Amino acid sequence: MTLARGSRKVALGGRTDIGRKVDLDISRAWLVDPGAGREGPAELVVRDGVLQAVTWLDAKDAEGIDDGGVIVAPGFIDLHTHFREPGNTGAETIASGLAAAAHGGFTTVCLMPNTSPAMDQPWLLAGLREAVTTSGSPVRALAYGAATAGRAGEQLAPIGSLADAGVIGFSDDGAPIRSATLFRSALAYAGSFGLPIIDHPEDAALTEGAEANDGVIATALGLRGWPGSAEAIAVARDLAILADVVREVPSARLHLTHLSTAGSLELVRRAKADGLPVTCDVTPHHLALTDEWLAGARRYAWDALDADGRARDPWRDGAIVAGPYDSSLKVNPPLRSAVDAAACLTALVDGTADAIATDHAPHTEVDKDVEFGLAANGISAIETALGLVLEAVDADRLSLAAAIAALTSGPTAALGAVESRVQTGLATGRPANLVVFDRSDRWTVTADSLASRGKNSPLVGRDLPGRVLLTIAGGRLAFEH
Ligand SMILES: [Zn+2]
Repeated sequence: MTLARGSRKVALGGRTDIGRKVDLDISRAWLVDPGAGREGPAELVVRDGVLQAVTWLDAKDAEGIDDGGVIVAPGFIDLHTHFREPGNTGAETIASGLAAAAHGGFTTVCLMPNTSPAMDQPWLLAGLREAVTTSGSPVRALAYGAATAGRAGEQLAPIGSLADAGVIGFSDDGAPIRSATLFRSALAYAGSFGLPIIDHPEDAALTEGAEANDGVIATALGLRGWPGSAEAIAVARDLAILADVVREVPSARLHLTHLSTAGSLELVRRAKADGLPVTCDVTPHHLALTDEWLAGARRYAWDALDADGRARDPWRDGAIVAGPYDSSLKVNPPLRSAVDAAACLTALVDGTADAIATDHAPHTEVDKDVEFGLAANGISAIETALGLVLEAVDADRLSLAAAIAALTSGPTAALGAVESRVQTGLATGRPANLVVFDRSDRWTVTADSLASRGKNSPLVGRDLPGRVLLTIAGGRLAFEH
């Protein structure tokens, strides 16, 4: 097979079916390698799945190659993924989720434990691993264990035996660890195994019945508000407890996921400056979309910000182009204002946010195709993550190198002690983990174009840049266009 665009060539020789080891010559492509802190024209050779050579090209050999076409990068790693097996295979299975991940350019996914039953026992992990093997996908699936038994928030899960069984951290995601006492114990106990707690920061008392970001848009639409303070309060609690715990357990670590407000990101910025072992991620939808989409606007966040850094009025701007209350936009935390979205981008640029995580949350039509307030929270996001992030790059809000780092080296570092289990990086002599995509090739998001069973994306019908051409995971073919 040969893929060619302009003067750039990607040639894939030999067997091409999913899961088979690949032989591949990539010539005259733009390589982004966050591990080496380098990008530029390069050639790569993969033989029998092993990355044999990476050659950076001199200026004379690199003529006509730029960062606007075919890009080669280490395979992406998603710190926050929901596949629905066991429990809700109508929304996603391990197999469909791994196919979606590969289509999105991801070679490692970290699965949240809010399945049914919750991943709170080692034998459940064995079932998950069996489903991964049966899928035939070479994409690596790592698992978080539940932090509390059944995610019920009443007693700790068996953290030690889950750590022994190979989980990469602990979370009650879908919900926060509500009890400060349990959160403190979980942080200390997981930390003694060198594993992080991944918290979903939300003060549940402030968000009961909430439907949309608290603000002008929610008021105009008559939706119950989810205040940004509910996130900041939870983040502040978590950071204060972390500061206590690290004095006794220096290996304790906290990762705050899907931060969505300027206020909570500022708290993390200060905590990092104080030297606390905290990392965090933002999602593609929180940095690119805003709450005005609920009213029917469809412009990106950076186009919804005025020159003074305030959110513009979509009605005054004539920016309403679709109907209101599209339930595919219902997500927790909710889509925020353009000011908060800009803060998510700033956090990526200045290193406050370590990673972009998709919070891929597939749902069935039954759970989503209902009145806005009743719809399940979540966006099927793993296949559109790259496209949304590249929209920010194209709008000069983020460099290509920073975007790729947030999808590769950033999440790897956030995982800390378990990074050797992540399939990323461009080490020669090791199995290749690569994504090849074409920035100049736009694709249309449709229900059929998504490998995920979850078609709940507000981007359906929209064109995105950066079609993924090839994903190689562990030296094996995971996806090819
Ligand atoms: Zn969450």
